[in-house]
Amino acid sequence: MRAVVYNGPRDVAVQDVPDARIERPTDVLVRMTSTNICGSDLHMYEGRTDFPRGGVFGHENLGQVAEVGNAVDRVKVGDWVAVPFNIGCGFCKNCERGLSAFCLTTADRSVVPNMAGAAYGFADMGPYRGGQADLLRVPYGDYNCLKLPPDVDDRQNDYVMLSDIFPTGWHATELAGLRPGESIVIYGAGPVGLMAAHSAMIKGACMVMVVDRHPDRLRLAGSIGALPIDDSKDSPVDQVMELTNGIGADRGCECVGYQAHDPAGHEHPNMTMNSLVKSVKFTGGIGVVGVYVPQDPAPQDPSYKQGEITFDYGLFWFKGQRIGTGQCNVKAYNRQLRDLISTGRAKPSFIVSHELPLAEAPDAYRHFDARDDGWTKVVLKPAA
Ligand code: NAD
Ligand code: ZN
Repeated sequence: MRAVVYNGPRDVAVQDVPDARIERPTDVLVRMTSTNICGSDLHMYEGRTDFPRGGVFGHENLGQVAEVGNAVDRVKVGDWVAVPFNIGCGFCKNCERGLSAFCLTTADRSVVPNMAGAAYGFADMGPYRGGQADLLRVPYGDYNCLKLPPDVDDRQNDYVMLSDIFPTGWHATELAGLRPGESIVIYGAGPVGLMAAHSAMIKGACMVMVVDRHPDRLRLAGSIGALPIDDSKDSPVDQVMELTNGIGADRGCECVGYQAHDPAGHEHPNMTMNSLVKSVKFTGGIGVVGVYVPQDPAPQDPSYKQGEITFDYGLFWFKGQRIGTGQCNVKAYNRQLRDLISTGRAKPSFIVSHELPLAEAPDAYRHFDARDDGWTKVVLKPAA
């Protein structure tokens, strides 16, 4: 089969690799039809993680079931499924509590002995190959496949967002503790930040502010009724304060991650975290879904080599704020979010800028990595 293979920093190629296949009786094999490039892929693409050369990218996956192992009950050949980026078992202590991003069965213990969590095509998240390919092996398929309704044909670009970024945006607002009628500020207008904004609008926030400096991304935020805040024009903290009568937002979301930078391009891994502490009110909540890694092989800020940031803990404590972090437990939300899509209440495809055949992946990586104007989200179509 063809797959998007990582050959080193900023070097991916579409190459032939051995076919994904059923390896265990609980596996499901999916023929890929839609698979997104994610901001998480970019950390790996840029060589800012220990993702192995020769590995296959792709954790935002949707397709049609081609084959099932003989212990699979619920999923049938021909079903259309969205596959959460997390690989859970469904029966460990964490999966049972809905913490499917922290599965104890599928985790790779060679990373750290008490490791929890696994994902497709992801640094430190196990040996599982990604779905930017013709075929994807889904372990524990009955648990990990979300069946899609018959309108999937017209709405693949909506449903494919269920594998990661729509639930992740929703999770950011959950971690922040957002309730109807509250205000929220979201740092980052990439796909994840825009999904957090979409989620906050659906949940009935009174005001949704989105901070970034790319006009195309800020325009998309504005298109769904959020207030775009351009941090290249003025301090984002000052702008939030002005919009909230000097009090700060009730809630805040971090949707950028450790490669946060100033508008001139210099990285400051603590930048958005400290801005959030300042832009969120006393007793407010902060949800952090932007990725931070324990080791950065090529840090711009030397202290981040071991994942450390200079965090304004004093002000955070003084303000009595709360913070929630981590990978999204996609299984905790994807069923409900699917139903919001199928009834027309949610339309996450509003961020899609490009639908491209798999062969064009290397070019798409280049553009999306450069945050080129108009490249807001790429959906690769292996079957096209
Ligand atoms: P992206 O890189 O396309 O978007 C990030 C955006 O942040 C860009 O538009 C960039 O201009 C903006 N930005 C950079 N520095 C900023 C700053 N100081 N202030 C405000 N905005 C700033 O990526 P994405 O796909 O939207 O993903 C965002 C983050 O979420 C990444 O770190 C990704 O790895 C992570 N992620 C986490 C999960 C999870 O489960 N927790 C899931 C998916 C993605
Ligand atoms: Zn992703």
